Amino acid sequence: MNAIENVTGPVFRPGDDGFPGELAGYQVAHPHRPDLVVGATSADDVMVAVRYAVDHGQPVAVETSGHGRGEPLRGGVLISTRRMDGVRIDPVARVARVEAGTRWARVVAAAAEHGLTPPSGSSPEAGVVGYTLGGGIGVLARELGWASDRVRSIDLVTTAGPRHVTADSDPVLFRVLRGAGQGLGVVTAMEIELAPVGRIYGGALSVAAEHVPALLAAYREWTADLPERLASSIGALPYPDLPMVPEHLRGRYVAQVRIAHTGPAAEGERLVAPLRAAVPTTGTLGELPSTRAAEIFNEPPTPHAYTGTNAMLRELDPAVLDAALGIAGPDAPVMCVLGLRHLGGALARPPAAPDAVAHRDAPYLLQVLSLVDGTDAPGRLHRELMDAVAPWTAGRTPNFRFGEQAAKDWPIEVPGRAELKADLDPKGVFHA
Ligand SMILES: Cc1cc2nc3c(=O)[nH]c(=O)nc-3n(C[C@H](O)[C@H](O)[C@H](O)COP(=O)(O)OP(=O)(O)OC[C@H]3O[C@@H](n4cnc5c(N)ncnc54)[C@H](O)[C@@H]3O)c2cc1C
Repeated sequence: MNAIENVTGPVFRPGDDGFPGELAGYQVAHPHRPDLVVGATSADDVMVAVRYAVDHGQPVAVETSGHGRGEPLRGGVLISTRRMDGVRIDPVARVARVEAGTRWARVVAAAAEHGLTPPSGSSPEAGVVGYTLGGGIGVLARELGWASDRVRSIDLVTTAGPRHVTADSDPVLFRVLRGAGQGLGVVTAMEIELAPVGRIYGGALSVAAEHVPALLAAYREWTADLPERLASSIGALPYPDLPMVPEHLRGRYVAQVRIAHTGPAAEGERLVAPLRAAVPTTGTLGELPSTRAAEIFNEPPTPHAYTGTNAMLRELDPAVLDAALGIAGPDAPVMCVLGLRHLGGALARPPAAPDAVAHRDAPYLLQVLSLVDGTDAPGRLHRELMDAVAPWTAGRTPNFRFGEQAAKDWPIEVPGRAELKADLDPKGVFHA
C-alpha cells in the first residue's frame, strides 16, 4: 500500500486548521468535500496522491483556482496544485513551461520581460492548465488562436504513472488533452507557445441600456469585416447599486464593448471609429502594456457563486440578438450577464497538430451567466435562451460552462475520448 505520508507537501483532513482554506476557490457554490486534501508540491507528490486514491478505491479531483469547478467531490482525494506555480520562459523558442498550479498572471508577467505574451484570458487568476485543457479563448484570441493550439507538450500523471505527451509521442492523447482534457489524469506541467506582443491598443467603451439593441445590431455589421489583430466582445449586465461599483455603472444596465488591438494605435482608432459612430459610447481607448490586457474585462476579483453556459454560433442572426436581450437582457426575471465574443481569425484555422477544440469555425460565442440564488430559476432561464438560439448553435465550448447543472445538461463528446478514459483510468478514479 502507498502511504500518503510520503508526500512532501501538506496533507489536510476535515477538522485540520488548513482544511477549509484549501477548499476555498473563486467559485463558492458547491465546494468539494473530500476526505483528504494533498497540497502537492511536485509531480512526485501528485503520483503518491493518485496511487493512494487508486489503492483505496477513492475518487480524485484536482483544483487550482476554483474558477471552473463543476460537480463537487464527495469523499476521496482533492489534489490542490496551488503550490506548484513555477514558470520558466525560453525567450528564443518563445515557449513558457508552467507547472500545474500556475495562474495566468505569473505567466503574463514573466513573458512580458521578453516582450512576449501568452494566450491568456480575461481572468489573470484563472489557472493555465484548467483553462488550456478546455480550449482557452484569450483576450487576443483572434490573432493567437486557442490556447490549446499553442501547447507543445504536457506532463501527465495517470493511474499508471507519469508520461510526457507530445504530438509525436502520443498523438491521440495529445489531441484529446488539448480541448477536452479534464478528467483523464493530473497535468503536472505544460509547455505553451508565446507571441511577440508587448503593447496593445484597447479598453472598454460603455453603452447605456437604451442603446444596447442598436449596439448589438451595429456590432454584427462591424465585426463582419475586421482584421484578426482586432479582438472584441460585449458584456452586458445590470450593475448592482453598491458602493464598490464605479459610480457611472452603479444601479444601471450597461453594455461594455471590450477592444484589444495588437496593431498601431492609429489603426485601432480608425477600425473602431464606425462602431463609435453608430451608438453613443463613453470611456476611452488607448495604448497599454500587454500585462494590463485582462483589465479590459475587469472581471470581479471577489469569489462568488455562479452558473452559466454558452452557445458557439454558426451565424449572428438578428433573431439571436433579439432572443438574448428578450430572455436574458435588462428585464430578465433573474440577473444575467450576457456575453457576445467575436471569434474567427486564428481561432478558425486548424492547429499544427490536431486538437479536440470543436466548432472552431463558429464566428461568435454567446455567453450567459447568473449568480446562484438557491433556486433553479437561473438554470431554467439559461436553458430557455439556449433553446431559443438552438437553430444557430453549432455546440458549446467547455470553458464557459459553469456550475454543477451545466455539465450535466450538455455533455461534450469528443472522438476517441471515451476509449482513452477507459484505457488510462479503467476504474474511473478521476473526477471531471
Ligand atoms: C471570471 C472568469 C473569467 C474567465 N475567462 C476566461 C477566458 O477569458 N477564456 C477562457 O477560455 N476561459 C475563461 N474562463 C473559464 C476558465 O478557463 C475555466 O473555468 C477553467 O476551467 C479554469 O481553470 P482553473 O484551473 O483556474 O479552475 P479550477 O476550478 O481550479 O479547475 C477547473 C478544472 O480544470 C481541471 N484541472 C485544473 N487543473 C488541472 C490539472 N493540473 N490537471 C488536470 N486537470 C486540471 C479539473 O478538471 C478542474 O475541475 C473564465 C472563468 C471565470 C470564472
